[in-house]
Amino acid sequence: MQIRTVFLACMATLTVIAISAGILVSVQAIAVYRSAGSMLAELEIDRLLFEIGDKVAAERPIVRATVMAGREVDAATSAALAAARKDADGAIAHAEHVLDGLGYPGATGQADIVRTIREDLRDWRALADTMLGQAPGARDAAALGRYLNAFARMFRSLDFALDLGEMAIGVRDGMTVELLQLSRAAWSARRLLGVQAGATFTALLSGKALPPQLLEQQAATDGAIKEQWMLIGALARHLNADTGMTAKMEAMFGIFIDYDRVFRAALDTVRYDGPYTADVRELDRKVSAAAAALRTLRDTALDAATDRTAVARHAAAVRVAVSAAAGLAVTAICLAVLLVLRNRIVNPVLTLTQVIGRLSRREFDVEIPPMARGDEIGRMGAAIEALRRAGIAAERSEARIVHMARHDGLTGLANRTLLHERMEQAMMRTGRGQQCAVLCLDLDRFKAVNDTFGHPIGDRLLQAVSERLSDCVREIDTVSRLGGDEFVVLMVNMAHADEAAVLAKRIIVTLSTPFVLDGQTVSVGSSVGIAIAPQDATSAVTLLKRADTALYRAKDEQRGTYRFFEPEMDAKLQARMALERDLREALRTNGLDVAYQPQYNLAADVLCGFEALVRWNHPTRGTVGPGEFIPLAEETGLITAIGTWVLRQACKEAMNWPDSVKLAVNLSAIQFKGNDLVPTVRAALAESGLPPSRLDLEITETVLLKDNAATMAVLHELHAIGVSISMDDFGTGYSSLSYLRSFPFDKIKIDQSFVRDMAQHEDSEAIVRAVVALGNSLGITTTAEGVETAAQLAQLRAQGCTEVQGYLFSKPTTADMARRMASGEIGVDALIA
Ligand code: C2E
Ligand code: MG
Ligand code: MG
Repeated sequence: MQIRTVFLACMATLTVIAISAGILVSVQAIAVYRSAGSMLAELEIDRLLFEIGDKVAAERPIVRATVMAGREVDAATSAALAAARKDADGAIAHAEHVLDGLGYPGATGQADIVRTIREDLRDWRALADTMLGQAPGARDAAALGRYLNAFARMFRSLDFALDLGEMAIGVRDGMTVELLQLSRAAWSARRLLGVQAGATFTALLSGKALPPQLLEQQAATDGAIKEQWMLIGALARHLNADTGMTAKMEAMFGIFIDYDRVFRAALDTVRYDGPYTADVRELDRKVSAAAAALRTLRDTALDAATDRTAVARHAAAVRVAVSAAAGLAVTAICLAVLLVLRNRIVNPVLTLTQVIGRLSRREFDVEIPPMARGDEIGRMGAAIEALRRAGIAAERSEARIVHMARHDGLTGLANRTLLHERMEQAMMRTGRGQQCAVLCLDLDRFKAVNDTFGHPIGDRLLQAVSERLSDCVREIDTVSRLGGDEFVVLMVNMAHADEAAVLAKRIIVTLSTPFVLDGQTVSVGSSVGIAIAPQDATSAVTLLKRADTALYRAKDEQRGTYRFFEPEMDAKLQARMALERDLREALRTNGLDVAYQPQYNLAADVLCGFEALVRWNHPTRGTVGPGEFIPLAEETGLITAIGTWVLRQACKEAMNWPDSVKLAVNLSAIQFKGNDLVPTVRAALAESGLPPSRLDLEITETVLLKDNAATMAVLHELHAIGVSISMDDFGTGYSSLSYLRSFPFDKIKIDQSFVRDMAQHEDSEAIVRAVVALGNSLGITTTAEGVETAAQLAQLRAQGCTEVQGYLFSKPTTADMARRMASGEIGVDALIA
């Protein structure tokens, strides 16, 4: 069950209990209030009936006295009678009016009684008037008896309506009950007094003894009065502590004893016929005094009971008000507590629960409502907020890691992983007119920039290139760097292949603008290879490979251009790869061979050396020339091993020649990388026993492109060993002359293109002449390559060229043939011939 429900249930139960208790108390108090009201009404009725009894009774002694005295009705009697009747009528009218207006159910019966009394009274009054109107002697004693009896009955009919047993619990306290009992006892005593005195009066006035039956009745009445007096005495004593009733009682007792004495004297006389000595008037006074005293006692008790009931009713009213107020207050407090619980605990807990739920779904942007509170919920909120922040931090570092895993650290571009993902996605969407293209690009001369300006500038260049590339493409395309200067652009949602060509052109143009990096102006060009999906490949790996093939072709053919992939490129590439594989195999299985081409000294007309030229006897393709496999060997790094092998082989072979015959060996620029070249040369010389002075190492200008200190140091070291260094293919580079300045070359080999063109082009002839002159003036040997005709030979001889090499004398030949040439077995003339 939810805490909220438990809270609600608890508070609802509390509220219900509070309201029920309030209602219970109120109902009780209302009952008390109502019964107190009823009781007050009853008391009021009692009082009214007493009043009527008193007032109506006042007429009786006047009539009785007049009739019994046998007097004529004088004026005073008439006035007294009229006044008593008026009083009685007034009391009756007042009682009727009050009873009708009381609105109390019990009052109706009483009102009826009062009305009956009013009606009856008319008859009895008429009876009295008739009696009084007659001559005293003619008056009927029986009529007086009827009259008096009627009054006695009337008194009885006015007996009490109030039933004490019916009184409500709240009002029925002992004292009120005793007060009521007291008032009743007083009334009864008063009534009995009237009955008792009435009979005696009648006897006294008539002068006739009371008949024995009435005497008996007198005794009974006397007992009853005594009983009432005893009761009054007991009640008064009991009530004394609160009402001071004993004193009142005792005063009354005196009056009663006084009456009793007079009454008893009179009673004693009326046992016999008169004339009597007893004083009727005194008896009348004593009766009246005793009646008045009893009335006072009755009134006092009634008033006290009324007061107490009124107080009880008021207390009940107060209790109703208090319990209602308490019920309302408890309800209000419960509601307030509920409200506070809801606002301060339940709602915040619900909100925080929702927040935790969202955090568990990694929704870290969830808003936590501000809780500026130091209690448990405030601390919980703060802890959840800390959790949220930790989540954000974790997500960020996760995102950073994810980013790092898919991006290039230097340029921030996509890396190979991300490129592949994007390519896979793009290729899944291709088809139905949709194409995507992969553009592989490579920076021309990037390695030179790195070597010349250093790696920091190289890195800056790559960053600048990546920015320019990103500016070239659309938002939906991907620019990635796979490493080094290898960039790949993925172009998606392409309708036509031309769009890729447009992009390639834009990239080439953009990257051809020089970069200014740290104040240095750096120029690089770029070549682009393009492959299109789905036409060129259906897998990302193949598509990328094909774009790379196209790039290779672009670079091979003409740098600074783009090429689309064509199926035949793949075939060439396959062939190349096969060649590479075979070359490695040849190196391992002695499939290579060295050919030797003789070099002649023109002045001495003698064979002065051999150039070692590598050959590959391919098992299926026959002899493969170095022009075909040397570039591949350079690209793959195989050239170092090949070069070492040729050097060792040739050095060994040269030991078969006379000491005057030198050995020339070609070195690739790649062999200058690393620190192995000098030890390799030393080892080859040591191994073969060839004196260093007989070894000539030929380098091309590409070695010198890397005009760095390391290359120079290696050349100088080789020189120091005693090996001579030749500049091969002189004149084909950018600044051949300037290279001559950078190192003291021992020999210049004039490139065969000049020698070939010498006869046809004057320029070439002039160049050859100038180089020969330059060599002579610098003291450097000059060797002309590619001498094929006697005319060329004659020209070179005339120009003063030091040495010649070419087909005119011999094509590169086998070691055996070379040995025979060296030994003089085969002469130069024979060769020329
Ligand atoms: P190179 O060093 O300039 O070698 C001379 C080239 O010219 C040789 O070609 C040779 O056969 C050719 N040649 C000589 N006389 C004539 C002629 O009268 N007419 C014509 N048309 N050609 C002639 P080859 O053997 O094909 O070698 C080509 C190049 O391969 C060499 O040029 C050299 O740069 C390189 N090479 C050859 N062997 C090696 C080697 O062991 N190591 C290295 N690094 N490069 C080598
Ligand atoms: Mg050479
Ligand atoms: Mg050459």
